[in-house]
Amino acid sequence: MKISNYLACPECDLLLQQTVSVVGDKLHCPRCNYLLHRPRTQSVARTFALSLTGLFLLLPANLLPTVGVKILGNTHDGTLLSGVVTLFNEGMWAVSLIVFLSSILFPMLSIILSLLISGHLYFNRGNRHLNQWLRTLQHIEEWAMLEVYLLGIIVACVKLASMAELKFGFGLSAFVLLLLVTVTLANNFDSMLFWQQIEILKKNEKK
Ligand SMILES: [Zn+2]
Repeated sequence: MKISNYLACPECDLLLQQTVSVVGDKLHCPRCNYLLHRPRTQSVARTFALSLTGLFLLLPANLLPTVGVKILGNTHDGTLLSGVVTLFNEGMWAVSLIVFLSSILFPMLSIILSLLISGHLYFNRGNRHLNQWLRTLQHIEEWAMLEVYLLGIIVACVKLASMAELKFGFGLSAFVLLLLVTVTLANNFDSMLFWQQIEILKKNEKK
């Protein structure tokens, strides 16, 4: 396999000829030493497996109770989604929008796109939307921040612990698992390899 494309260093714009690197290699820019590429082992298969796991965790993480608060004998169960609705109803619509985007919509889109792209590459299926999907994924990944919401839950629990009895629900376990899956997903994702594979798929289709 020989690829004669060029690549621009994102830091200093130096134009470099793209080479094929193998796992264990670290490609640094010769001018500014920026880490250009570090190939990951079985990136496509792992992305496929992890995004499939993430997909199954999405529903329980969003809809099952995360933390229940027992005050004066009454238990109030909170879910990720109900938290967003409460913030909105309390007039904090900007905060509720940010929480909704960074903890629900973007993680969900990012998992669905990862699954679509890696699934097509894993099974060698071409699709004219692959380029668009991968570009969108790379943009929204920066906005998916589940850890922000987890931090919010921890802060709220610490504050409430002395005032009320707290009950942790299965939604919280699913949410923490989802967070671990998305972090591992991002760590395994080799965008340069994905772009190369899409290019190869397209070339093979034209033949
Ligand atoms: Zn550079």
